[in-house]
Amino acid sequence: MACCHYYAPAQGGDEAFSVDVPSITFGDGVLAEVGDHAASLGIKRAALLTDARLAALEHVAVAKRALMDAGIDVVVYDEVRVEPTDGSFLAAARFAREGGFDGFVSVGGGSVMDTTKAANLYSTYPAEFLSYVNAPIGGAQPVPGALKPHIACPTTCGTGSECTGIAVFDLVAMKSKTGIVSRRLRPSMGLVDPACTMTLPKNAVAASAFDVLSHALESYTALAYTRRRAPARPSLRPMSQGANPWSDLGCREALRILGRYLVRGVNDATDRAARTQLMWAATLAGIAFGNAGCHAPHGMSYSVSGMVKSFRPEGYPPDDPIVPHGMSVIVNAPSVFRFTAPACPDRHLEAAVWLGAEARGAAPGDADEVLAGELISLMKATEMPNGIGGVGYGAEDIPQLTAGAFPQKRLLDNAPKAIAKHDLAALYKDALAYW
Ligand SMILES: [Zn+2]
Repeated sequence: MACCHYYAPAQGGDEAFSVDVPSITFGDGVLAEVGDHAASLGIKRAALLTDARLAALEHVAVAKRALMDAGIDVVVYDEVRVEPTDGSFLAAARFAREGGFDGFVSVGGGSVMDTTKAANLYSTYPAEFLSYVNAPIGGAQPVPGALKPHIACPTTCGTGSECTGIAVFDLVAMKSKTGIVSRRLRPSMGLVDPACTMTLPKNAVAASAFDVLSHALESYTALAYTRRRAPARPSLRPMSQGANPWSDLGCREALRILGRYLVRGVNDATDRAARTQLMWAATLAGIAFGNAGCHAPHGMSYSVSGMVKSFRPEGYPPDDPIVPHGMSVIVNAPSVFRFTAPACPDRHLEAAVWLGAEARGAAPGDADEVLAGELISLMKATEMPNGIGGVGYGAEDIPQLTAGAFPQKRLLDNAPKAIAKHDLAALYKDALAYW
């Protein structure tokens, strides 16, 4: 394949990549296994975190019953905020600290799993809130030691948070998202039960499936690990280490599955086979981006969701305006991949073909339009918003969106070509509308 040169050695670049493998159990009904797994991890008193909507659904009842049947004390916390904030992270940490728990179970989407990682961290190693948060916004202090066991049970086919050591939140004062990143935040185990996704509304499946798609596409087109500067000490090699042969495996298969099942799984809740495949793609992409890192579509998404004005999509709680994570990412994607395609056109073309594009006879110079065109047709087929204009932004918002996204160094620096501030503004401009 033409991409074998992608990992050619580069002057001053890293010469090795690390593989962190999560412990995952995948299959219909595995949620009911949580009690036995928790007991085997030595948990006697568990905090079960979820959100208010999920707390009323069967999944939480199944997990709670399984834990109790295994002789484990369980206390449910259902105040996780969808799109968590520094305040909601701290509230969950307070609950965790006061409850005297020796383990955690999260049942929900990325918001729930990320909140549980933070609750585990701040209750185990209390510290001033910003100290663990990514630089330059926070102090990026390393997590001092192992955390308590955490079993993550995703109920959406999206974030892949069960596979990663990343917890993302809105820093309210800055109207932007940032996160905490450490291998020690990775859950001890993920129980991935596709049956949980059968009741999800269409828009929620679409948003999370496009999040998966972008995880895979961003990891596959990320800067090659050989072109990232070698770390000062080997133990400082970051999780966002760039594209590498291991993450390529997960990306490739996830993109092939999405090409075949994304539209089917979104548009038909009764299509169990398709929704099961989307869940598997989410797991594969989670393993991949946990070892490679995302880049610009995610970096740009943080101000798109953080500065939301009045957008209220169907299928989400109507109280607060929200741009769901997957939507805030995919609205940037065609614009970004047009920009990055010249840096590694083969990879962009391959990805487009896996997603279903017709690229016979396409030259490397066509990679930008072939991939962007395929993404746009998938977005149209699933009624995604038409660019950032579709979630309420206009040209007048670009300076503020740019200012909010530019500090996302961990993500922007992982793109296959450098992104200056004026490039970022141009990317938002090109993302205003696609059709
Ligand atoms: Zn994501």
